[in-house]
Amino acid sequence: MDGKEPPLRSVRDVAKVWERFKSGDLVGCPKCDGSMALAVEGSSKSYRLVCTQCGTSTPWFEPSGAELILKFEADGSDLELPDDD
Ligand SMILES: [Zn+2]
Repeated sequence: MDGKEPPLRSVRDVAKVWERFKSGDLVGCPKCDGSMALAVEGSSKSYRLVCTQCGTSTPWFEPSGAELILKFEADGSDLELPDDD
């Protein structure tokens, strides 16, 4: 709400765009006019959504039932997430 956190950093943000993606909606990039495409990492069954234009992406995540679990940063480093509560 304070506008200072970059977009797509919290599990709530990622879950929101993931739900839209799964329902077949076009998911717009929060930073540019591009749209987000799905990237899959097969060995760890992880997914992320990446902007096809500017490269903005969610962290890698793993869908787990109705929830999803954020796993690691787009570049593979450990996540440091803002408190979501
Ligand atoms: Zn973009």
